[in-house]
Amino acid sequence: MADDPVLSRDKDYRTLASIDSLLQQMDPELERWGHELLTGALREITSGLRREISSGISPDTSIEAIRASVHQALAPADRASLVPVLNLTGTVLHTNLGRASLPPEALHAIATVAGTPSNLEFDLDTGKRGDRESHVEKLVCEMTGAEAATAVNNNAAAVLLVLNTLALSREVPVSRGELVEIGGSFRIPEVMSRSGCTLVEIGATNRTHLKDYRNAINENTALLMKVHTSNYRVEGFTASVDEAELAALASEHQLPFVIDLGSGNLANFKALGLPEEPTAAQALAAGADLVTFSGDKLLGGPQAGLIAGRADLIAAIKSNPLKRALRLDKMTIAALAEVLKLYRDPQRLTQRLPTMRMLTRTQADIRTQAQSILPLLQSVLTPRYDVTVTDCHSQIGSGSLPVETLASTALRVDPVSGEDSELRDLTERFRQLPLPVIGRLHKSALWLDLRCLEADQQQAFLAQLDSL
Ligand SMILES: *Cc1c(COP(=O)(O)O)cnc(C)c1O
Repeated sequence: MADDPVLSRDKDYRTLASIDSLLQQMDPELERWGHELLTGALREITSGLRREISSGISPDTSIEAIRASVHQALAPADRASLVPVLNLTGTVLHTNLGRASLPPEALHAIATVAGTPSNLEFDLDTGKRGDRESHVEKLVCEMTGAEAATAVNNNAAAVLLVLNTLALSREVPVSRGELVEIGGSFRIPEVMSRSGCTLVEIGATNRTHLKDYRNAINENTALLMKVHTSNYRVEGFTASVDEAELAALASEHQLPFVIDLGSGNLANFKALGLPEEPTAAQALAAGADLVTFSGDKLLGGPQAGLIAGRADLIAAIKSNPLKRALRLDKMTIAALAEVLKLYRDPQRLTQRLPTMRMLTRTQADIRTQAQSILPLLQSVLTPRYDVTVTDCHSQIGSGSLPVETLASTALRVDPVSGEDSELRDLTERFRQLPLPVIGRLHKSALWLDLRCLEADQQQAFLAQLDSL
């Protein structure tokens, strides 16, 4: 009569060890998770076991079973929240996927300065306090032809800081065609109001003329500004004032002329076979007194905002107390310096800088890669899904060159049933791989654009396909 439920329940309760005695047998777990986390987990596990016992189940109360439950409960706490993914969306600079990937030189520089003291703000020649941006200022000047430069947390911060320094409580006329929303809540009118200046809207959405700027200028005008319409284009019956004309008007009234370039390109895109995009050097040569641009868009570096131009204006910006709140950390400075150095050899940028390498990959190269992967993907996805090699268009992304696309090739996966639920299931399974794969949904299919699948990642991609 071993099945007497009451007796067997008593026995089960008796075999359930106390928290203290469990802790004594869990040295490795104690080492890994610490006393507090482990005790909490053990309390939950043992009270769960007690509930099972009282409802008549005889659970496994052995130390091995409890240890396994501990690992199951606590392993996720160890796992990083921020993890690598494969960007097969076809958008090279994907803001949600972290924008530019850094080259090895930059990764090495980060590792070198991150774990040790450095001369971040210490002048090794004089033994005096130094300027943290000095480590990138000369390089930015070298690449843009600017007299002086500084850097902050991102381009949104750069715009905010420039306006707050040069236009506090004063007016800034901006064309209605350039009142951009970048996404993630960066809107030019809102940044302007937070910076403490007054936006004076001029012209019309599609057409703004020099006389609109001229008419807006009064004794309270602080500067003239042009905003690069990075993520859209006004087409058709349009007019805007070019940089050189605006620069001349600004200088006639002794006003600084500022251009927010957004993407901020430093390379000759045309020579690289890419859609033309003005460089920071061109904007300064056209007469801008200051330009602002991002570090992690077309430049291909870490998140940062660069400000380059006239030395007196840069000096005023550096002495704004807000600058301290927006400054760069040492790891970003280290990475940015290395990325900027790569621009000294423009011919090799397309090999050495991941953003440029991906942007300039040819469709033929991507198609060959797709064909080589096709059989493997077919073997794991048929018969539920059809997999084909299909030409497509990659986007540059992050509001850079919005209209231009790059000819590319994708592995297109269609659910044979045509059911949306099958498609959702597939994208979810790709997302849950050890190295999550993020594709693009388009025309009721999942498109894996291979432009950003670099050689070293292809191995990892293929190796995990079986777990789909
Ligand atoms: C992207 C962009 C910004 C914001 O730059 P972040 O580096 O993302 O802060 C500002 N202005 C323009 C025109 C942009 O394209």
